[in-house]
Formats: sequence, structure tokens, C-alpha cells
Amino acid sequence: MMRGMTKRERQVTDQEEILKILDKCKILHLGLVDGDEPYVVPMNYGYTMEGDKLTLYMHCATKGYKLDLMRVNPKVFFEMECDVQGFEGNVACQYGTVYQSIMGRGRAEIVEDVERKKEMLTLFMKSQTGRDFTFTDIMVSAVTLVKIDVSEYTAKRRPMPGTYV
Ligand SMILES: Cc1cc2nc3c(=O)[nH]c(=O)nc-3n(C[C@H](O)[C@H](O)[C@H](O)COP(=O)(O)OP(=O)(O)OC[C@H]3O[C@@H](n4cnc5c(N)ncnc54)[C@H](O)[C@@H]3O)c2cc1C
Repeated sequence: MMRGMTKRERQVTDQEEILKILDKCKILHLGLVDGDEPYVVPMNYGYTMEGDKLTLYMHCATKGYKLDLMRVNPKVFFEMECDVQGFEGNVACQYGTVYQSIMGRGRAEIVEDVERKKEMLTLFMKSQTGRDFTFTDIMVSAVTLVKIDVSEYTAKRRPMPGTYV
């Protein structure tokens, strides 16, 4: 279970706000388990939110370290952020960064079915570009599609000091 947020006033729970963060981030950092060592890899993503069920879609080459790891252990953790902006102060401890972010965990599934891969690539490109693309069998054969069933997540916003959101 996700641990409660220490600065609870920064937690974002409104789903419309969460969807805006998912639309903006475009890149996530995917944490994988390599035995007793972590491995984190940045990737672009697409998503769907059905009710409160979040699913992430990623594409990659047909081989590589991250795929080897998720075949052994499909447990993943992810983080994404947007609207990142530094701010300054008169003393060092007044400097900081405003941001919006989402973190969560789930299970990775490597999808082999050609028709599902086409659907997932369409969702991926819709999230990334806002456009509807279609894919041929040859196009999907060149990539691996990874679906993340997100079991739980939290969203957070750090506003500019002195503003109320
Ligand atoms: C902003 C951004 C978006 C990206 N989007 C995608 C995407 O949508 N799909 C995709 O497949 N890849 C994407 N990449 C590239 C991705 O981060 C990996 O480099 C790539 O997927 C290969 O990962 P792998 O685990 O298969 O590494 P492998 O090719 O198997 O290589 C593993 C080795 O390379 C090192 N390595 C791997 N990736 C990186 C890296 N990014 N920086 C430094 N060292 C690295 C590892 O530490 C390890 O030592 C993106 C990268 C960035 C920075």
C-alpha cells in the first residue's frame, strides 16, 4: 500500500487534476527490480483512465535490459513530473522547485498479440501527440509493447510559495 504523504496539503486527489498531470508529463521514470538492486529507465508513455483504473502503455526495442528484468520480476514503480520551475530566495533554504508529479506501482506485461499492440500504440501516440494514428503489422513487429496495470498511485503539487491552489 502507498504510504501516506508527509505534506498532505500538497496531495492532489481531484481526478480532473490528475488527468491534466498525466496529459502533460509525457515522460516517466520506470523503476524495475534487478535482484536486490534497483534499475530506473526514462520512457515515454501513453495512458488510459477507466473509472479510477490507470493503465500505462510504453513501447521499446525488441530486446534490452529493462525487458529482461520485467520478464523475471514484473513489479514496477514509476514517477513522472511536469510544470517544473525553480524559484529563488534571499537565503539558500528559500530556493526550491515547483512541480506536479505522480508516483505509483503496478505490474508490467509484455504484450505479444499483434492487434493489442496496434491498439496500445494508438493509445500511446494519442497521449503523446493528441493525434489518431493507425499501424500495420510490419510497423508493430519492430517494437515491443509494455502495459503497466497500475495498482495504486498518488499525485502531488508543490505550488509557488505565497500562492494558493
Ligand atoms: C526522455 C527520454 C525518453 C525516452 N523514451 C523512451 C521510450 O519511449 N522507449 C524506449 O524504449 N526508450 C526510451 N528512452 C531510452 C531509454 O531510457 C533507454 O535508453 C532504452 O529504452 C534502453 O533501455 P534498456 O534498459 O533496454 O537498456 P539497454 O540498451 O539494454 O542498455 C543497458 C545499459 O545501458 C544503460 N542505459 C540504458 N538507458 C540509458 C539512458 N537513458 N541513459 C543512460 N544510460 C542508459 C544502463 O545503465 C545499462 O548499463 C528514452 C530516454 C529518454 C532520456
